Amino acid sequence: MESQRKYEFDWDNTVGADMQVARPSLGPSTRIEVYRLFQFTLRDILEQHYGTEMADTLFREAGVMAGRAFFEKFLSGAQDVASLSNKVQESFNALGIGIFRVESARQDNSQFIFTVDEDLDCSGLPDTADVVCVYDEGFIQGVLESFSGKGFNVREIDCWCTGSRTCRFEAKVV
Ligand SMILES: [Zn+2]
Repeated sequence: MESQRKYEFDWDNTVGADMQVARPSLGPSTRIEVYRLFQFTLRDILEQHYGTEMADTLFREAGVMAGRAFFEKFLSGAQDVASLSNKVQESFNALGIGIFRVESARQDNSQFIFTVDEDLDCSGLPDTADVVCVYDEGFIQGVLESFSGKGFNVREIDCWCTGSRTCRFEAKVV
């Protein structure tokens, strides 16, 4: 049966399969301001309609979907945690997402601390009392779940916006 939905996500059909065809002269890059303009206007509207908590929930859920799709596209060859983190580091660098590091990992891979410097979402924004990288929490969750087949809970514990100048994420198996 054909889907009734108009906007179901699919990499090739919504992101695009071939950027050489899509943008032969401008190429695949845009400015970070454009990405943030889109993200933070959408977030503002979601918050106005649904409140802060639901806006965060929706953003995190979209992040999970993105992390899963990103895993399929760029990380699926990873055999173990070391090769996964190398692939994340390389692809985050190549695509200008941020500078990714594994700060600590439990031996049984049930708990991790990751850091992202120069994060796409928040780097350089004014200090606030709160972390803001909810989409990234979901993104990392999606990557870890795709890789391990286990459920993960990911929370940002430090953010550029809380004065840390790096984003730090704690991931735990649920
Ligand atoms: Zn952050």
